[in-house]
Amino acid sequence: MDRLIARTVEKHRPLSVHFDLTYRCNERCVHCYLDHDDHGELTTAECLKVLHDLARSGALFLTFSGGEIFLRPDLYEILAAARGLHFDISLKTNALLVTPERAARLREFDVRRVQISVYSDIPAVHDAITKVPGSLLRTLAAIPILLEHGLQVKLACPLMQENLMAYRGVMALAEKLGIPYILDLTITPMMNGSGGPLAHRASVSSLLPVLQDPLMHACKPQPGAPAASAVNASPPAFGGAVSSGIENLAYEDLPCSAGHNSCYISPYGDVFPCVQLPQAAGNLRREKFDEIWYHAPQLERLRAIRESQLPICSRCEIRNYCERCPGLALMEGGDMLGAYERACALAEEKARLAGVAVPISALHSGREIASFQPAPQAEFASLAADSSSD
Ligand code: SF4
Ligand code: SF4
Repeated sequence: MDRLIARTVEKHRPLSVHFDLTYRCNERCVHCYLDHDDHGELTTAECLKVLHDLARSGALFLTFSGGEIFLRPDLYEILAAARGLHFDISLKTNALLVTPERAARLREFDVRRVQISVYSDIPAVHDAITKVPGSLLRTLAAIPILLEHGLQVKLACPLMQENLMAYRGVMALAEKLGIPYILDLTITPMMNGSGGPLAHRASVSSLLPVLQDPLMHACKPQPGAPAASAVNASPPAFGGAVSSGIENLAYEDLPCSAGHNSCYISPYGDVFPCVQLPQAAGNLRREKFDEIWYHAPQLERLRAIRESQLPICSRCEIRNYCERCPGLALMEGGDMLGAYERACALAEEKARLAGVAVPISALHSGREIASFQPAPQAEFASLAADSSSD
């Protein structure tokens, strides 16, 4: 797997693709970043064509998500095609619509893993977030069904103001079920730029008890699951909702995998470097995947970015504690190359907890940005002008 990742990063092959089949959903989570109206989803035939394009491009890991994937009546047709093209298939769902029959069909198409959103082990807390009464009980009822059908299940718990202290309950629930989990502190603006969901984000100071909790250990892999069998196998207890979670030297000096060996496809056929990096590089209704992936200027500019050349962050003394995301830097700070307040505040707290005497980020240190020396590569130097949102 290490060699595969290194090679795909080096050659810019699309190893891992996140494909949202719909933004429609049967829950209305308070922190959701999607517009749930259908603005013209890809048809079944268009989805199948995308899958063939991706297979030709060498994509291997495919995650179908949404919205709620079970709202696509053609889900099994799409899964059958993906199986026929030998993708490694994962799904993300709220599991409200899982039945034994549906679980059996997922197994039939060799779906490897199903990631389920759970916000709390307390029904009132979970249901207040999803705005669907009874949703926690229905979601939890799906887990044994999926496990009985031989599917791997993983819990994902985004933490926000409404469920911040529910994380221990979710961890205990996952451990009781013998399945892995991931806690996610990332609450993002909506894809259309609206900051509505940010009202639910927990303040950095309120996160302190969570960050300090000794129970925050590495997530336990599912019994029997091969440790390195997938791009996002065995991530730490904390992780982003969409990042690969894999450490690999190939990513050294890159912001992340987005646009290097991973990308995101919307239900409307738009290709983005990542669901959290809303710069469309092209649309699959008008162009083939390869034409976008290998020739879109947006992706070429992204691939030229090196962390060691970022104007502010390259000088940051607490960079090792920071989980800066270029997409959030763009959405929250307006500059994909810049620092942004939330990442700096979190990094400072983590550094403080780790015993760093003066944990101050470069953004807050007050040093003059003008002292930054331009990067040697001409292509990188041009990024500064280009890095604001399209
Ligand atoms: S853009 Fe952000 S969320 Fe997406 S892979 Fe990169 S770091 Fe992760
Ligand atoms: S803490 Fe702030 S300045 Fe430092 S690397 Fe992270 S985003 Fe950049």
